[in-house]
Amino acid sequence: MAKKMQVVFASAEAAPFVKTGGLGDVAGSLPKALKKAGADVIVMVPKYSTIPDYYTQQMQHVGEFYVSLGWRNEYCGLERLDLDGITYLFLDNEHYFARSYPYGFFDDGERFAFFSKAVTESLQHLPDGFQCDILHCNDWHTALSPVFLREFYQGLPLYERVKTVFSIHNIAFQGQFSDTILNDVLGLAHIPNAARQLRCDSSSINYMLGALNYTDAITTVSPTYAGEIQTPEYGEHLDGVLRRRNNILSGILNGIDTVEWDPSTDYQLTENYSVDNMEGKAACKAALQQELGLEVRSDRPLMVMVTRLTRQKGMDLVTYALDRILSGGVQVAILGTGDYEDSMNYFANKYPGSMAVRLTFDSALSRRMYSGADMFLMPSLFEPCGLSQIIAMRYGTLPIVRETGGLKDTVIPYNQFTGEGTGFSFAHFNGDEMGDAVFRAARLFWDDRDSWNELVKHAMTQDFTWKRSADAYIDLYRSLHPDVEVMPEPE
Ligand code: ADP
Repeated sequence: MAKKMQVVFASAEAAPFVKTGGLGDVAGSLPKALKKAGADVIVMVPKYSTIPDYYTQQMQHVGEFYVSLGWRNEYCGLERLDLDGITYLFLDNEHYFARSYPYGFFDDGERFAFFSKAVTESLQHLPDGFQCDILHCNDWHTALSPVFLREFYQGLPLYERVKTVFSIHNIAFQGQFSDTILNDVLGLAHIPNAARQLRCDSSSINYMLGALNYTDAITTVSPTYAGEIQTPEYGEHLDGVLRRRNNILSGILNGIDTVEWDPSTDYQLTENYSVDNMEGKAACKAALQQELGLEVRSDRPLMVMVTRLTRQKGMDLVTYALDRILSGGVQVAILGTGDYEDSMNYFANKYPGSMAVRLTFDSALSRRMYSGADMFLMPSLFEPCGLSQIIAMRYGTLPIVRETGGLKDTVIPYNQFTGEGTGFSFAHFNGDEMGDAVFRAARLFWDDRDSWNELVKHAMTQDFTWKRSADAYIDLYRSLHPDVEVMPEPE
């Protein structure tokens, strides 16, 4: 009988145990979808001391081994927890992971070299006879696993069948360190080929570069971003190696948890609604306008942003265009924190009743904003995938996005001739173009409500489930391992 596909998914974060951003969401959701799509999955995460007691109390000690790192020999415990059909293995070393936050320490290079090596080493200590076919690594924290696998473990029988996949969630963070780490920590200085493939300049080595050179397949989180990162403009100095390896690079869109994000059941909303009965959305809008101190008027389009207030998210364009947008009759509400708080306050003071800001992180309010708004603005400079525009569409709020990365792949721009579309878009990183797109949306809202409502329906019925992504990852795994079986679970 053919062997079933068995995948080890290694990540520095995974919801609900530890999450600082999108990687945590993906590692929390994708493995479950992979299991449904027919693979067995073990997820490996560092055992941070910040993981809630509720989970640590359920963990079982299932093994331990030692990891050599340069002159060090470090303990690694394996702590097991089964949740929603997925086995999680937490890699335990208090020196490295009993800290107040996952990242940001002087020895991050050593900490995640340890994690990467422990992941590779642990493939021979897996429970229940699990035989890894695919080692799926994510971002720079696990980037050295494919390097260690090839340089230190190749030839050992258990490792012969292991193929590696490396996913880029954010190319801006690459794990770049002084090259003394090559000898002191990685133990690779005496292997000229390894040193060459990790070195990014005369005095630094780069973990992500190592993964890109060593792994069997590379993915990133949208097809457009997969193309963009091969250009100097978006590649953050890794575009050259990505162009050279583009035959193994593909883009697979992230999904969202459509149970967690569902306007027909979301208990935080003023009223629930669905594509078949949209009445509740008007109540959500009126309640949101009231809550934020905006004029309560159904005839004024309400555009929101829920975002980090950073340059990446296009806040320069927003600052440039807000006078035109607000004086043109569009209401604006912004929820977020970051570098542009003062300028957002300035506009809120200048346009009372038309503009509101809330400078905080508030998940419940974000849900009231996704549901109560007509339009969602996301004019990013770059966007590997983006989640907010997908949530907005699910809540019947039409996104206005710049055509970059995952924004381009998820939002179909309105076509006035065919009526097709799920939102509005503009091409260049330019404040006037963004303003034009906002008013294209506003004009449709004012002048042709039937077409507007059709767009809302299209947006709400798009398929953004993780199933689609999981099927694409499974196809990739199978291309690396045609001999193993996938056995999808019954619906
Ligand atoms: P990022 O680049 O920040 O990961 P994404 O669009 O992929 O951007 O995901 C952002 C997620 O964080 C969304 O779920 C969004 O609703 C949420 N979010 C961002 N800022 C806030 C905030 N201030 N309050 C509540 N949720 C927020």
